[in-house]
Amino acid sequence: MSEALKPVDAHLADILSVVGPLSALDLTLPDAHHTVLTEDVHSTFPLPPFDNSAMDGYAVRAEDIRAASPESAIVLPVVGDVAAGSTTPYTVQPGLCVRIMTGAPIPPGADAVIPLEDTDGGIAQVAIRKAVGSGHCIRRAGEDAPSGSEVLKAGTHLGATQLGLLAAIGRDRVHVRPRPRVVVLSTGSELVEPGQPLHLGQIPDSNSALLTAAAIEAGAIAYRVGIVPDEPGVLADTLEDQLIRADVIVTTGGVSVGTYDVVKEVLSRIGTVKFDRVAMQPGMPQGFGTIGPDKTPFFGLPGNPVSAYVSFEVFVRPALRRMLGVEPIARPTVRARVTEPLRSPPGKRSFLRGWLAVEEGAYVVRPVGAAGSHLIASLAASNALIVVPENATDIEAGSAVSVMMLERRHQ
Ligand code: AMP
Ligand code: MG
Repeated sequence: MSEALKPVDAHLADILSVVGPLSALDLTLPDAHHTVLTEDVHSTFPLPPFDNSAMDGYAVRAEDIRAASPESAIVLPVVGDVAAGSTTPYTVQPGLCVRIMTGAPIPPGADAVIPLEDTDGGIAQVAIRKAVGSGHCIRRAGEDAPSGSEVLKAGTHLGATQLGLLAAIGRDRVHVRPRPRVVVLSTGSELVEPGQPLHLGQIPDSNSALLTAAAIEAGAIAYRVGIVPDEPGVLADTLEDQLIRADVIVTTGGVSVGTYDVVKEVLSRIGTVKFDRVAMQPGMPQGFGTIGPDKTPFFGLPGNPVSAYVSFEVFVRPALRRMLGVEPIARPTVRARVTEPLRSPPGKRSFLRGWLAVEEGAYVVRPVGAAGSHLIASLAASNALIVVPENATDIEAGSAVSVMMLERRHQ
């Protein structure tokens, strides 16, 4: 079989011509976490909504305590308490004060708050030992965001702090582009669930754990379906069941030319899925197309864990980011000096595991492990993929290479 290999960029372009941003939805705040806004959000009331106290203390008229000092305290009768949430309509008359808690509305008549620590803490009357100006310790209505102001722009990613702001302005739902729902399943009759005993010839299914986590890290919602045996009927039924909840389906295994390559067998019959030999290593066999009534994008990735992961990074992640409507869709790539010589097959783009570090202010990448696409331990010890172009076969130690940075770690 010597047909020409499909270039990596051509395969990615085919994928990106099929997937587009998902349609926007109204979602509750918890469901909107890690989505992207599709509306400009304006506050409908001032933030804070009313003048309130920044401290526990006493609401006073500043002019009444102008002469207060540590040596000569001014004593004012306390006419009542205003707690946060309190609706008691006290008015502070000249010469009087009200005890007030943080966040409580400033009573009419008062124009300053004396913090508790500048007083004797009295209940019926209070000795105030400090003069303050009008407005002291008052948080003004609208100082954070005036009523009607734009607080978030369309295109903003909603993380924890943005959700907090939306709640603060009283929103319980927002218009967003939802996170794509990715269904992940592993094909292979040799696979067993991690934690189950292994008989000869069996291995734990590592791909579905890996790809589910990778999909979540890419911003998607992921459903790990797990193992499907190499039986065409079971695979066809599982796909049909899963299509209901999927915006994307990712399978691994069964895309080569072996007798039990069920993904290829089943998917060649349904939808528009094509199986290509892509000019890359690892990850040469790739299936992609759409299936089902909604033309759900389908990725049939190779079974070796490193191949599956590299294929995910190169093809699936950009597609998921495109669906989310976020930029950039590609991982950040930097140039780094490679510490050891590299070999790469002619005509294929190689993705080699590496450890990227900064030494004396410059990026340096150290290759990790050998090139075998079953070597998941060295994958787990990497933080980057070294990308060697199609036309390069021998890279000398010390040369500059392109490095794709993977998920940042706490190290
Ligand atoms: P396949 O593409 O189905 O021929 O699988 C290629 C290689 O990857 C075989 O050695 C499989 O046992 C292995 N493999 C396939 N799927 C998985 C998986 N989910 N977890 C771990 N290894 C797998
Ligand atoms: Mg298989």
